Amino acid sequence: MGKALIIGCGGVASVAIHKCCQNSEAFEEICIASRTLSKCDKLKAALENKTKTKISTAQVDANDVEALVALIDAQKPDVVLNLALPYQDISIMEACLRTKTHYVDTANYEPEDTAKFEYKWQWAYREAFEKAGICALLGSGFDPGVTGVFSAYALKHHFDEIEYIDILDCNGGDHGYPFATNFNPEINIREVSANGSYWENGHWVETKPMEIKREYDFQGVGKKDMYLLHHEELESLALNIPGIKRIRFFMTFGQSYLNHLKCLEDVGMTSIEPIEFEGQKIVPLQFLKAVLPDPASLGPRTVGKTNIGCIFRGKKDGKDKTYYLYNICDHQECYREVGSQAISYTTGVPAMIGAMLVMQGVWNKAGVHNIEEFDPDPFMDALNRWGLPWQEDFDPVLVD
Ligand code: NDP
Repeated sequence: MGKALIIGCGGVASVAIHKCCQNSEAFEEICIASRTLSKCDKLKAALENKTKTKISTAQVDANDVEALVALIDAQKPDVVLNLALPYQDISIMEACLRTKTHYVDTANYEPEDTAKFEYKWQWAYREAFEKAGICALLGSGFDPGVTGVFSAYALKHHFDEIEYIDILDCNGGDHGYPFATNFNPEINIREVSANGSYWENGHWVETKPMEIKREYDFQGVGKKDMYLLHHEELESLALNIPGIKRIRFFMTFGQSYLNHLKCLEDVGMTSIEPIEFEGQKIVPLQFLKAVLPDPASLGPRTVGKTNIGCIFRGKKDGKDKTYYLYNICDHQECYREVGSQAISYTTGVPAMIGAMLVMQGVWNKAGVHNIEEFDPDPFMDALNRWGLPWQEDFDPVLVD
């Protein structure tokens, strides 16, 4: 039994909050705090008569460390679950440190004025968190998140050594719009318009955006084109999976999405450099976000499935072995259950699970840790219980 303070009330947070409310045995109490109080109050009103979890709400600017400290002092949560944007990671970690409160997030820190996400800023807190006796669990979404748990599970139960990991993220969903993003458009477009990269033989190999393309036949979805991207879990898995030779990350994109993205890039709409417009400074990408469909509105109209997982290759008892662990999730089933599409669902469920394991002390390691550093078994059990059952294949088709 415990209390979580959840910061942010967007697409992912809404799913995590629904899941906490289904899991009242663990989450006796939650406080939903975000920039726009009305969103928190609306969700509270929709949920409070259907759950034993006690819900309160608060307004907070998560860039303001003092305000966060005051909120944590007032609420006294056992864990803070950060589901705001990556820009707020450091201020929320700083507030957790000052109040000696455990911290969980789903995305690594990215400065607002540079499209460059990496772990160095959060890893810099390792010693301070360790000294304070509190745990920061980084990246408890799907990717990063479940992909790290899958890697730890594969290493624990199926391999003596993992040499190759290919993470395949397939969204076979169709929302019927020519162009929309499945999660926060600003974060999504920053991610996919950046150079790609992968880890090979101890160093990074950089690629142009969308330079490497493969086709893969996904269980439950069918054949899709996928493209190599840089993705944040590559950075921590390269360190935490001993002896790893190569890790790559592929994500599927439809042709319409890519055409629109190219055109928007070509006309400057994806830029994060502020420009002067009618006497006001605006950031083109933020303006674009304002005119695109809100990801939260895609739920009712998205049909199809996601299939996200990892293909491992390595050695067991001196022999070569391959192993594929993945989850298939249906957009409409998610919508019926929690009112959101599968992208928010596949992130919100692991966020709830990570917060639960840290809050209950099942995962209890002071310091700042990526998810693959913990025992994967309780998380794998919880995935099956809370809506993201996983499947295995011992003879998968490999990606060349
Ligand atoms: P949304 O834009 O839907 O929600 C973000 C929420 O954060 C909004 O409620 C927003 O408030 C709030 N917020 C933003 N700035 C502040 C601030 N300064 N103070 C307080 N609250 C603030 O995003 P998503 O739900 O799609 O994404 C949430 C997180 O999940 C992101 O970090 C994203 O990168 C991550 N993610 C991780 C994935 C994974 O698999 N690991 C996959 C998908 C997403 P307001 O309502 O006022 O705008």
